[in-house]
Amino acid sequence: MHGTAIPCGASSNARPHSGVLEPFSKHRRYNSPICHNLAMDSETVDLAKAIGNCATSIAVDVPLDGPNEGQALLRAANPCNRRLCPFCEWRRSRAWRRRFFEGLPKFHEDFPTHHAIFLTLTVRNCSVDELRTTLDDMHRAWHRMTRLSFFPTKFWFRRTEITKQGGETNSLVPLNFHPHIHAVLFVPAGYFSHGYVKQTEWRNQWQMAARLDYAPVVDIRRAKSRSSSGGATIEQSRSAALEASKYATKATDLIAMGSALGTYHYAVKGLRLSSSSRSLKPYLSDTPISEQELVDKPTEDGGPTARGKALWFEDVQEYLFTDLT
Ligand SMILES: [Zn+2]
Repeated sequence: MHGTAIPCGASSNARPHSGVLEPFSKHRRYNSPICHNLAMDSETVDLAKAIGNCATSIAVDVPLDGPNEGQALLRAANPCNRRLCPFCEWRRSRAWRRRFFEGLPKFHEDFPTHHAIFLTLTVRNCSVDELRTTLDDMHRAWHRMTRLSFFPTKFWFRRTEITKQGGETNSLVPLNFHPHIHAVLFVPAGYFSHGYVKQTEWRNQWQMAARLDYAPVVDIRRAKSRSSSGGATIEQSRSAALEASKYATKATDLIAMGSALGTYHYAVKGLRLSSSSRSLKPYLSDTPISEQELVDKPTEDGGPTARGKALWFEDVQEYLFTDLT
């Protein structure tokens, strides 16, 4: 196989430019401004270095035909796997999705009539200085709520997301944060006929569990499904996987935090932002995504593949092939 067969315009010149690498470059580009913001604070300068040196060299496999033609798979990298690293967060989200796609079919085999519902729990926005306490309180509240008798299942997965609000240059709205919990609950079929928990009940229960002196915003919805049971299962797994594999915080939000990014780092440091219930763990592990999981698995179709090595070029903000076979 030759480099010229790559459907991306790669040539045999040194450092050929290739659109095949654009998905990698796109996510890696966010690292530079984040590295810059973290480097301003002596306490996060080591973290800045790790994110700045993340995945500076990668190896990819590019299928030369078949349905995934031209879609490069990451086969090796030197990822930093830091929480605030946009490149690694992208790879982690893919790893979570893979865990769901692998684990949920087994769950549905054992519990074929269980149905996915999505629950979103919020609290009022907080400042960056209040973020850690708010997150700790929310996680404790979630734990308390899942043990109450009204809680409809022992199979759940929760993911904490933190979005940034305000704080733009020249904005009158100060920088604050909107932490919220997204949970996927797998409820037994009978839930919808008896034991159904209405949105107002969820709101009351969350208000009590989180000990809030106001009525919080809570959303509950059923996963979309088709009528046939097989199709419904697959579709539910898919929507649950997509829901569960979203980013904890978008890279653009992290960048927009500017000098507050270091404080944000300490607010989320070491927190378990994704968690499976004990009963769901045999199907869906919630251990932190390891470095090995950040790369793709080899494709099984065994079709022709080109293997390439690429380096990150900071000046042009792009991965460029250095080697293609
Ligand atoms: Zn990284």
